[in-house]
Amino acid sequence: MSSTIPSVKVAEVREFSRIERIGTHSHIRGLGLDDALEPREVSQGMVGQLTARRASGVVLEMIREGKIAGRAVLIAGQPGTGKTAIAMGMAQALGDNTPFTSMAGSEIYSLEMSKTEALTQAFRKSIGVRIKEETEIIEGEVVEVQIDRPATGTGAKVGKLTLKTTDMETVYDLGNKMIESLIKEKAQAGDVITIDKATGKISKLGRSFTRARDYDATGPQTRFVQCPEGELQKRKEVTHTVTLHEIDVINSRTQGFLALFSGDTGEIKSEVRDQINSKVAEWREEGKAEIVPGVLFIDEVHMLDMECFSFLNRALEDDMAPVLIMATNRGITKIRGTKYRSPHGIPIDLLDRMVIIATQPYEEKEMKQILKIRCEEEDAEMQEDALLVLTRLSMETSLRYAIQLITVANLIARKRKAMEIAVEDIKKAYSLFLDETRSTQYLKDIQDEFMFNEEDEQQSEVA
Ligand code: ATP
Repeated sequence: MSSTIPSVKVAEVREFSRIERIGTHSHIRGLGLDDALEPREVSQGMVGQLTARRASGVVLEMIREGKIAGRAVLIAGQPGTGKTAIAMGMAQALGDNTPFTSMAGSEIYSLEMSKTEALTQAFRKSIGVRIKEETEIIEGEVVEVQIDRPATGTGAKVGKLTLKTTDMETVYDLGNKMIESLIKEKAQAGDVITIDKATGKISKLGRSFTRARDYDATGPQTRFVQCPEGELQKRKEVTHTVTLHEIDVINSRTQGFLALFSGDTGEIKSEVRDQINSKVAEWREEGKAEIVPGVLFIDEVHMLDMECFSFLNRALEDDMAPVLIMATNRGITKIRGTKYRSPHGIPIDLLDRMVIIATQPYEEKEMKQILKIRCEEEDAEMQEDALLVLTRLSMETSLRYAIQLITVANLIARKRKAMEIAVEDIKKAYSLFLDETRSTQYLKDIQDEFMFNEEDEQQSEVA
């Protein structure tokens, strides 16, 4: 890249294609707060859970102001009370410029890398580095554009651009990028353009003389026009935001940047990280880069064990730590891998440094509203009485189960060529798929026909 950033390579990595699919939380578009951070009853796909959303809004504001880097937030509550939904809402509200990494606690148990390496990578994916670069922008008026196809051509083009700036006329040999950019902008004699020297990008600013037809890129054209005063070379600052993890991978000799696309980065040597940390510190001192602490969200955090918790405790003290948001639906339970019991299965010393946001079970009208939003998300039309039946079912079974039934009932309704889901479709879906309670009951009823059931073992132990 440019000469301002020697030795350590940085590249802008973007997700180039994002397929919009209907996912569990795809209806969530933010936290649904107003300007005073007060939650609206129903907004941005979010329903109810007002206290937790208000608290999350405050956390969000602190993240935005950069006040709580290296702090930890725990979202705790019963299953299906919207903990993950709230975290997703925060991610949406923070926007694309703040890194947000989401993982489940169980993801760290991989054979390819150690647990602490997996957590280190997750931490570094959640720290952005905003790099400032200076580039030269040349502004002037086009005197002549000449684009030729070489006679033996393979479709390739060569070109020259004569540009008049304040005090001189310069002829530029054009590379492919500049030719493409000129054709896209339809720049022709008389137009005022800028050329970004670092990227070769040409942009049209305006036209000071109207004349001449558009060139068609088939042959040379020459136009001479009178030139107004142009402005000579300006300096401009451009910024890229990349994550520390991306810089690590790009500079890791064993991996190479392609690993960023496959996700198969393996372990990264600590020397690489040390080198990058000191380079980033240097850039910060020179004012070339700033750190953007993002968010690391660990769902099902009770799946982590003692080693991981102690790693988190230490990692949060680093001055480049992100905000750590965790979620759990566990009560007082054993810390994984130990015989010690602790609230949420999290050691007390880590709990002590967290702020805890509690989610509450939903009331019927909130359940109904969430189900209605999910119907819209899935493009499913549902009759009012069917929605009432589904809401009742969600109170008796679970919100998740009821959400799943929407998809099934929609298919059943379509099969009978109906435009809307009716009560009969919900009933059919309910009879086809068991919820957790019925599934447990079913197993209890016919357990003798299954192999290795535990009740047998318990009986034989007693015997
Ligand atoms: P678990 O403890 O089982 O992981 P959870 O608390 O993380 O559960 P979610 O997965 O967030 O629960 O919620 C279940 C479903 O309900 C998701 O599809 C979620 O998007 C939706 N949902 C939950 N709460 C809300 C809400 N307040 N507004 C809109 N949708 C919600």
